[in-house]
Amino acid sequence: MSVRNSLHDSLPLARVVGSNPRMLQVSPSILQFLSGYMGKFRVREVGDNLILHSHLPPLNSPAYSRFVTEHLLARTSGPSHAQVGITNACPQRCEYCYNRNRRGQVMDTDTVLKTVRTLREMGAVWLGLTGGEPLLNGDIVRIVESVSGDCAVKLFTTGCTLTPEKASRLRQAGLFSVSVSLDHWREEEHDRGRRYEGAFREALRAIDIFRSTGGIQVGVSAVLSREMIENDQVEEFLSFLDGLGVDEAWLSEVKPSLEAFWNERLVITEEHRLKLVKLQDRYNAGGRMTVNYLGHFEGKECFGCNAGNKMVYIDAFGEVSPCVFTPLSFGNVQTGSLPAIFAEMQEHFPSEESCFINKNYRLLQKHSAGRTTLGRADTLRMLEEVRFGGLSRFNQLHHGSGTGQVTPARETPDRR
Ligand code: SF4
Repeated sequence: MSVRNSLHDSLPLARVVGSNPRMLQVSPSILQFLSGYMGKFRVREVGDNLILHSHLPPLNSPAYSRFVTEHLLARTSGPSHAQVGITNACPQRCEYCYNRNRRGQVMDTDTVLKTVRTLREMGAVWLGLTGGEPLLNGDIVRIVESVSGDCAVKLFTTGCTLTPEKASRLRQAGLFSVSVSLDHWREEEHDRGRRYEGAFREALRAIDIFRSTGGIQVGVSAVLSREMIENDQVEEFLSFLDGLGVDEAWLSEVKPSLEAFWNERLVITEEHRLKLVKLQDRYNAGGRMTVNYLGHFEGKECFGCNAGNKMVYIDAFGEVSPCVFTPLSFGNVQTGSLPAIFAEMQEHFPSEESCFINKNYRLLQKHSAGRTTLGRADTLRMLEEVRFGGLSRFNQLHHGSGTGQVTPARETPDRR
């Protein structure tokens, strides 16, 4: 078991303040917001880490202290969260894969290392390693090790090629959390969606290996279809995941990032989102496993959509996008300065209350002209037609305004 103890802690904020006394300098309204937010989850002890859920660094980690100091107090303009594709290779062919149409020259390891270190310098306190299948990058342990000292590193994987030795080296390198992809409790459904026979068994095998390794929070990342949500099948799925003994179910829904999903019958509505939020809260109040629904974290009542503002995605080819689900590029780290590219993106991407891609996929369709990843010029043309909404509850409190667009003052120097 990777969880040594479920703490049943009704006052997670008190534990956070205990580990980060500077939290007391955060404004009372933000503290009250965080107290309400954290109260929906249980703090769990995994190895040396106290974890609320895996979208935040462990609450007692140097990465969380940086989140408090740099983002809550100093309000740095850099990203807090970043995802990096460290390879484009993957044996699976998921029907909803947001990387399917991305192309280019794959970053070499030196470029990946430089990129993750630059992200950390810019402010990133949480780094998600993705792909392709990131375990296929032979330098993954070096990449984790290069930033894990004060940046929480999480892995998103199919589990393919995992061995107990590799899992152990990743833990020693400082990996704090892993999400293994599993989209259905029926083997044939999961394999069908991934177009890969054996995907389900590989995922279960990887979960077992990570759980036996100890010290890493082990979760499942599940992409839910609208059909599953409408047919009330998510609860059955969660029971199955709970039975696997995982620490967390990281839930998101299929996003309209690809042409095949530019269909309003496939995109979730606000009612579907709220249904999943309720299910998450109900489960967390009584269940063993943490349920972490992205649409809650990124919902208007919490932190909102921070694509391109506090969140950045750099794909395996070095293209810089607002998030993994937005096939828009502002430039490439192999030919340009990451801080400068990010700064331009952030100017065009105010934080807002609801999911950018769910709201704007029709504009993506209009501007794509057969391509699904827009280059900088087309991206800027599309953005001229985008109307951003108001601020999430957190950003209303953090920036002191109920509506409008948050583009923080530039503070991150160009370091390249
Ligand atoms: S566009 Fe949607 S998926 Fe991307 S960061 Fe915003 S809320 Fe999340």
